[in-house]
Amino acid sequence: MSTESSDLLARIRLVLVETSHPGNIGAAARALKTMGLSRLELVAPRQPPDAETLARAAGADDLIARAGIHPDLPSALAGCRLVIGASARLRSIEWPLLEPPACAQYLLEEAREGDVALVLGRERSGLTNAELARCHYLVHIPTNPDYSSLNVAAAAQVLAYEIRRHWREQGNAPALASRDAREDLATAEELEGLHTHLAETLEIIGFSDPEQSRKLLMRLRRLFNRARPDRVELNILRGILNAAQGRKSPERFARRHATQSNPEGSPPCSSD
Ligand code: SAH
Repeated sequence: MSTESSDLLARIRLVLVETSHPGNIGAAARALKTMGLSRLELVAPRQPPDAETLARAAGADDLIARAGIHPDLPSALAGCRLVIGASARLRSIEWPLLEPPACAQYLLEEAREGDVALVLGRERSGLTNAELARCHYLVHIPTNPDYSSLNVAAAAQVLAYEIRRHWREQGNAPALASRDAREDLATAEELEGLHTHLAETLEIIGFSDPEQSRKLLMRLRRLFNRARPDRVELNILRGILNAAQGRKSPERFARRHATQSNPEGSPPCSSD
């Protein structure tokens, strides 16, 4: 993680307005820290952070210890160039509305230039119209319209995850190893070799009729294309086909048992 990119995340603050349950403050801190965010600002919490906060923070105590406690929203937003308010409802007032991916993108873009804020409202009543009016944009997580309100810390988690996802897409973190990123995948020629071997073997063992097996072979091709075997897996399959054709004698295992004292002996399923 470069200093510059983690600095970007450090410029994004989560502001919780008049939270009623101290436990939610802890859960929000945990949501932030898991996503690499670190700034929490509290506006007039109904109860100050307590033991329940720390229990729900589950190790994100450092964010709680550093959290600013402010008398009002403007004080929590001091120095911010972009403010986005999270709303559980699609409001009647017309305000530019974002979905979470665009919200993350805007916050990260503007964080290059300075501090930015994401504001979450009270558990019962959300944000007031006067508070929303301080926001450049609103963000709404597209929930079930008949039951749209997330717990405030759950909303923080979704929005923080979007920020992290967008930040990683900008090349700030190595992608998780995906299946297709594996090294040593079988090449097209090697796969062709498997298909020829498979067709031949299915015929020899009496499973398929060469005249009528085109569809079967196409299905098997689809299966192996989906699986994208690597070289070792391909060799195992070819070893099995050889054995099915009777090209491997079961006695080789007896031989192996006899040479078990020799650690150099080849394993039973070593493939040709
Ligand atoms: N009854 C309140 C719900 C508040 S939930 C209301 O209708 O406004 C507490 C806070 O969590 C909200 O103020 C908002 O900041 C955030 N939140 C909850 N669900 C959300 C959603 N679907 N999209 C965006 N933010 C949400």
